[in-house]
Amino acid sequence: MKKVYFKRYEENDSETLSKIARELLELIVEQENVTLEKNIPIKVHFGEKGNKTFVPARCYDGVIDYLEEQHIETSFIETNVLYRGERTTKENHITLAKDHGFTRLPIIIADGEIGEDVHDVVINQEYFTSVKLGGAFKDYNQVLVMSHFKGHGLAGFGGAIKQLAMGFASRSGKMAQHSRMVPTVSEHKCIECGLCVKKCDVSAIQLTPKAQINSELCVGCAGCIAVCPVGAIRNDWGGLNFREKVTEYAYGAQLDKNHIYISFMMNITKECDCMGQEMKPIAKHFGVLASMDPVALDTACIDLLQKESHHDLFEIGRESLTHAKHINFGSSEYILEMI
Ligand code: SF4
Ligand code: SF4
Repeated sequence: MKKVYFKRYEENDSETLSKIARELLELIVEQENVTLEKNIPIKVHFGEKGNKTFVPARCYDGVIDYLEEQHIETSFIETNVLYRGERTTKENHITLAKDHGFTRLPIIIADGEIGEDVHDVVINQEYFTSVKLGGAFKDYNQVLVMSHFKGHGLAGFGGAIKQLAMGFASRSGKMAQHSRMVPTVSEHKCIECGLCVKKCDVSAIQLTPKAQINSELCVGCAGCIAVCPVGAIRNDWGGLNFREKVTEYAYGAQLDKNHIYISFMMNITKECDCMGQEMKPIAKHFGVLASMDPVALDTACIDLLQKESHHDLFEIGRESLTHAKHINFGSSEYILEMI
């Protein structure tokens, strides 16, 4: 049975949350005999422009102090998003991160300028034989995976698993989780500029005169979505078996690695931090939790939320955990150690 360390803190003060995160990191390293690598990037979410409930940059100060005191090289690491927005390309993404206060460490956008840098990890599971992560992740054996536990319209409530799955995936990996792979073109929006044709490495797009995608040739890299200046190219966000796919990507992102997981249960919103708008939290603040097992950690967070709050999206979050058990990923049984 895996341990999940929990320090309750029902306020929303970044300085205190930062100290708690550091305390939990020190504790987990000591209690679980974790060997720290010389270079440990911190996986974060910089928050979409306009979002006010993502984990603020100040909350990471404590763990950064700790890593620096151990003479460990560190950085913030993230991947580009699939949809068109401020975090679609590396340059804009870094600008937004700095605007949101993430200035203390170098920033690595793991999948390159628009998602072209991909690292394949073979997993041989039900939906995927391999997962497409951001290329930079292949350079690290250990990542400090820091997550915001919150909701998501499709995935339900969760933290560490979503952070591993969507957060580590390249654009093509995100697309594989979300969709039937082949995007579609809105003819009335297309201005026939041809940028998507130039971008498509497998010549799957033709102008006739509007852009048309050949589903036989398309490999689902999502590059065309990123370059289209008018947002004429979209994918099917719903997809099938989304939550199971998310779980398999999370499995691939932690396979043969020694990641450490810390989740903030604060500002718990119904939708995720990719929403570029203000949202009202739907539950109280709980505090900070940490574990070496992302499945145990998410299970503990959902259990806490269900026990002390009420929302009907809980069970959707649990579907990912059910699939984790099915593929022998992590442990849904845990011991909650209160700090
Ligand atoms: S998703 Fe990639 S492969 Fe498919 S049409 Fe767009 S650019 Fe081409
Ligand atoms: S990039 Fe967009 S607007 Fe330009 S041709 Fe392709 S679909 Fe049409």
